[in-house]
Amino acid sequence: MRRQRPKIVIAPLGDADFFQINKVATALAGTFGRTVDILQGVRIPDEAFNLIKGQYFSTVILQKLEMLKTTAHEKILGIIEEDIYNARHHVLLADVDSVGSTGLLSMFHLKQQFYGLPDDEKLIYQRLTKESFRLIAHLFGVPYCRNPKCVMYYSQDMYDIDQKGEKFCDICKRRYLKVM
Ligand SMILES: [Zn+2]
Repeated sequence: MRRQRPKIVIAPLGDADFFQINKVATALAGTFGRTVDILQGVRIPDEAFNLIKGQYFSTVILQKLEMLKTTAHEKILGIIEEDIYNARHHVLLADVDSVGSTGLLSMFHLKQQFYGLPDDEKLIYQRLTKESFRLIAHLFGVPYCRNPKCVMYYSQDMYDIDQKGEKFCDICKRRYLKVM
C-alpha cells in the first residue's frame, strides 16, 4: 500500500503579504516535489497578543495552527508580519512545534525597514524562502545543521540567513532522503 504523502500547508496570518507568500509556496512545491496549499483568511488569535510586550506569543499561534490541520500528517507553516516571542526567547525569528507539526515564521525582522534600511523585496523573498524551507524540512524531521552554508543552518540573525545558501548540504540531503 502506498504511504500517504504528508501535505504542506502555508497559513498567512493577518495581513501577511499574500503575493510574496504565493511565490514562496511555488518555490517550496518545486523543492519538496509536492503541492503546497495556501490557506486564506486565517486570523491572528487576539489572545496571542501580549499588551505589555507589544508582541505575539508564538505558542498560542502554533496551537491555533494545529487546529487547522485536516489530517495528522499535514505540516503547517504560519507566516506572520508581527513580532513574536515564546517562553524562552524575547526575540524570535521563527518557532516550531515538532509534535504538532506546526511552524511559525515572523517577517518582522526579515524586513529591511526594521533596520532603518530601504525596502528590498528580492532580499525579503530570499530570506522568506530560505527560512520557510528550513522550517518545513525541520517539520519533516531534518535536524538543524552546523554548516553555515547549508539552508538547515540554525540562523539567528539576518547575517546568518543572508550568508547561507538555499539548498541542503550533502549531509542534510541524505537525512532528507531518509525521512521522505
Ligand atoms: Zn546541512
